Amino acid sequence: VNFGDELVSPAEKTRRVGAVFSSVARRYDMMNDLMSGGMHRLWKDRFVNRVKPLAGEDILDMAGGTGDIAFRMAKRGANITVSDINADMLAVGEERARQRGLTGLTWKVQNAEKLTFADGRFDAYTIVFGIRNVTDIPAALREAHRVLKRGGRFYCMEFSSSDWPGFATLYDAWASNMIPRIGKVVADDEESYRYLVESIRRFPRPEAFRKMVADAGFVRAAAEPMLGGLVTIHSGWKI
Ligand code: SAM
Repeated sequence: VNFGDELVSPAEKTRRVGAVFSSVARRYDMMNDLMSGGMHRLWKDRFVNRVKPLAGEDILDMAGGTGDIAFRMAKRGANITVSDINADMLAVGEERARQRGLTGLTWKVQNAEKLTFADGRFDAYTIVFGIRNVTDIPAALREAHRVLKRGGRFYCMEFSSSDWPGFATLYDAWASNMIPRIGKVVADDEESYRYLVESIRRFPRPEAFRKMVADAGFVRAAAEPMLGGLVTIHSGWKI
């Protein structure tokens, strides 16, 4: 597995991803605002508008971290299971939910590659800015398919590189220079943020990932690129 410029084992990648998010759990929202210029909030609103969570539905928000997506869906009355491999991220989310008086949320540590949930348990599965951190992505997609009901929907939002030439070059220069610096100042961890930039650069382009979603068994797999594919909303259905 490539981790920045080094080759590391899958287990080492999982460990390092764990370290990135544990080190930043408490400052995670501030990091997101700094790294996206506040735009992650708009992307997340748009994503939840696409998912259209309904009151009473059971939705699994995988790699749910500190709850940004889960809170938006819970406000619409859906029952949300927030799962993440990192207990520190979930603990911050649980605390925020308590402070905001949000209900309808269940928090559960899980590895997206191997879920403990029963087959056909959920109406929808969401994963936002999480799948590129997963070591075995096809395994995570197969698990998403397994835990969905027939008629259930899969939604994923992820970064990749943009295909707008000028914008891609500008963003790449900005991200390679600024994100590690922000990481150093905010989390005293430059190296982990180099990895984050690298993982964005390496994530499959929208069409390639759309095909991976289809290969996992989803029908009508679709990709909605934004900013030339810098951020893409992927979706598919289990029938
Ligand atoms: N979805 C949240 C959001 O958009 O604010 C959090 C996104 S955060 C960038 C990525 C999350 O993926 C982290 O909380 C990390 O712990 C989680 N993650 C990484 N690998 C994972 C895995 N194999 N299974 C479940 N979660 C994982």
